[in-house]
Amino acid sequence: MARYTGPACRLCRKEGVKLMLKGDRCYSDKCSIVRREKAPGQHGANSGRRRVKEYSLQLREKQKAKRYYGILEKQFKNYFVKAEKKTGQTGEHLLTLIERRLDNVVFRMGMADSRREARQLVRHGHFTVNGKKVDIPSYIVNVNDVITVRDSSRKSPRIKVLVENINGRTIPAWLSVDKDNVVATVAALPKREDVDFPFEEHLIVELYSK
Ligand code: SF4
Repeated sequence: MARYTGPACRLCRKEGVKLMLKGDRCYSDKCSIVRREKAPGQHGANSGRRRVKEYSLQLREKQKAKRYYGILEKQFKNYFVKAEKKTGQTGEHLLTLIERRLDNVVFRMGMADSRREARQLVRHGHFTVNGKKVDIPSYIVNVNDVITVRDSSRKSPRIKVLVENINGRTIPAWLSVDKDNVVATVAALPKREDVDFPFEEHLIVELYSK
């Protein structure tokens, strides 16, 4: 599966917001957004005479969401097509569907410092869903699914550190996490208010509906 492999901080500077792509660094003074409040390139985003048009606002919101979750265009569009088929708010369905990706669940249960790391850990086969190894980051979880670390992975030095730190993590209401045993259960499907970023998803819907 293709993925963006360039510098994560560049994506934040481009969007002008903290997309929290690098774990602990994002909370520190080393964050590039804190240090350099301008977009990549010689002159930055604010110094040009760029006119902010409706289209560019919509495009930027979509790019922001893709980058936040680490999804490329084709897959993101596929999520939109699925969301569009459901009754109700397409934008909400889009975001809550993406929230259910296994890499996001691993991050949200506190077993990765960033979604990027979560994706890598899933790819390396460190997690099971309902007792079976799943190494597909885009795997969509359902209510009552049980996600945990594979027994053989619990010896991994990185996994050990993450397990030690799990107690300090805030867990969203739709996940029930047994932190002692590092087992997450999907207690309910995520709702719009469970998405921890202030997306204006209506702009994404407008863009794809043109
Ligand atoms: Fe974005 Fe984190 Fe880099 Fe800051 S440190 S620019 S939030 S990826």
